[in-house]
Amino acid sequence: MALIDRLRAVRATLRPGEAGPVASEGVVSAPALRAARPAPPDGASNYVILVLDSCRFDTWVRARPRVMERLGPLEKRYTYATWTAPSHYNLLIGLLPHSSPTHVYASEYYKDDFLKFKERFRIPDLSFGRMVPTLWLPTYLQSLGYRTNMLVSMPVLNPATPINSGFDRYQLMDRHNDVTAMIRAMRWYVDRPNFFVLNTGETHYPYATPDEPENEWPRISGVNGVFKHLDDHVRAGGLVHTSEAPRFFDDTRMKQLHARQVEAVRWVDRAVEELFDTAPANTWITITADHGELFGEKGYFGHGPIQHAKVTEVPFVEGRLR
Ligand SMILES: [Zn+2]
Repeated sequence: MALIDRLRAVRATLRPGEAGPVASEGVVSAPALRAARPAPPDGASNYVILVLDSCRFDTWVRARPRVMERLGPLEKRYTYATWTAPSHYNLLIGLLPHSSPTHVYASEYYKDDFLKFKERFRIPDLSFGRMVPTLWLPTYLQSLGYRTNMLVSMPVLNPATPINSGFDRYQLMDRHNDVTAMIRAMRWYVDRPNFFVLNTGETHYPYATPDEPENEWPRISGVNGVFKHLDDHVRAGGLVHTSEAPRFFDDTRMKQLHARQVEAVRWVDRAVEELFDTAPANTWITITADHGELFGEKGYFGHGPIQHAKVTEVPFVEGRLR
């Protein structure tokens, strides 16, 4: 089954209202929230985290996305995990990709990193002591009066997974690679600050933009879908060695795929202009990736069970537009 069929199969089982903990429109009514939630702190900021799935740092540098870089200076950061699910879990406990600092205890770095949320949320007395014991940013934000939203593209983050906790709205998008549809599906409420986590997949294999016909997408046997054809990769009790699959790691092909990811970043950059135009004043935006990607280096392709610097190097920009 090809990737797109796989995605459709997962989505078909998770239509909002048919299965999983998603309401029919995925939006909690305003009266219900008012009754259950305190008034937010004065001046509290909207906050959006946009995750370009699999976008590695040097891809961003090659793409030179001028719109997204309006947020602030580009930083090279490193993800705590090498694939989608654990990386998003990390984001949601408040650990964004790190700067790999030297000569500092991890506990000190975490503390300093958390303090930056005071600026992002414009809440001077934000207390991460109150995240104990759940260590879960969405529920903490709800307790502060926020509306919490997560719109995702990757089926491994679908609404039936435990990641969907503490969200007023959680939705798997119809297409894995259409950030414009995602931006247009955002609902900005004016009575409370909004928290959004957006996961978009143009930069994920096969690095396809929504205007590209599916029959023109590159096809690499065996990499369509995380849990697909697992048996195909295992022979006689071991993983198939790359030397047995020379076409799979053809250098020219890898360069073409990397170039596709560069073009995907440029596509997202143009699309993000609409987010910047429609986001209300007092919105902080962080744009980063959940992990990088390998394009043939040392015999690796993709991400996940890979120990290589390029699978943790990601771009990071953030700031407040107005
Ligand atoms: Zn991912």
